[in-house]
Amino acid sequence: MMQELLESMLEEHRHWTKMGAVATYIPELSKQDSESLGICVYDLTGEVYHAGEWDKPFTMQSISKIVTFMCVLQDNTMDTLYKKITVAPSSDGFNSIVNLETKNEHRPLNPMINSGAIASIELVKGKNVEEKYERILQMIRFLADNPSIEVNQSVYLSEKETGDRNRALAYFMKSTGTIESDVEELLDAYFRLCSVEITCKDIASIAALLANDGKSLRDGRELMSKKICKTVKAVMTTCGLYDGSGEYAVSVGLPSKSGVGGGILAVSPHKMGIGVFGPALDAKGNSMAGVKLLESMAHRLELSIF
Ligand code: GLN
Repeated sequence: MMQELLESMLEEHRHWTKMGAVATYIPELSKQDSESLGICVYDLTGEVYHAGEWDKPFTMQSISKIVTFMCVLQDNTMDTLYKKITVAPSSDGFNSIVNLETKNEHRPLNPMINSGAIASIELVKGKNVEEKYERILQMIRFLADNPSIEVNQSVYLSEKETGDRNRALAYFMKSTGTIESDVEELLDAYFRLCSVEITCKDIASIAALLANDGKSLRDGRELMSKKICKTVKAVMTTCGLYDGSGEYAVSVGLPSKSGVGGGILAVSPHKMGIGVFGPALDAKGNSMAGVKLLESMAHRLELSIF
């Protein structure tokens, strides 16, 4: 029943891919097939359903920000976090610079936008940036239950070569003392985390864990604390689709995180984890067909948390 539903919804919504465009500001991402669309669902009994290009690899991009955030929450108190980064929604784009100067005492508004994610890496435990990066990468593999996850080198190099907006954000934060590490080292970790290659199945698996309050679907073991899962889902709901989060809360109503690689990780609490992939993006950098597919699914299965 779920399988047939996914297949029919996917074909019904594929035409939306034509209304969006693949990201071109990271040249390597522009090579993606804009008409791809895939979905994977993990229900909490561990059953997996999928349709379309669900097993086509793509880069996590901003979806990695939630795993960085989970590590930050494991390694810090909320008070330490709030000294550097808040959890306030932003009405500007994910790579906006303006708020860093004019608002919030130079702290990034939230960890789901680029400035907040770059500053978050520094708050992760580790002797140096390399160890912090390794901790986050291992956490991605652990939560997705897939030890073979790796960085896509071409996307990483493409980001590194063209990431001047992120450099601007990071150097500005260094000038205000928001970050203290070597800027290029921190950016290098950020670019690599954005370039981690996954499939819809990997992100559905992470989403299912969040849906299950951090307990493994396999044996009920606690892999992430319930408290951290609750915080992450709250911030995903208010900030996960950047300045598109409000409209998305109305149309879909699920804690979610998007990335410019075309992925969206969506959590239906106590029901299922969902991963979608459609690299044609809307103007805010969210998967055009992915959002439509999730909207239709949330409507048909009455998934909205509101
Ligand atoms: N790597 C991308 C960037 O830094 C991530 C942005 C995103 O997915 N929204 O611009």
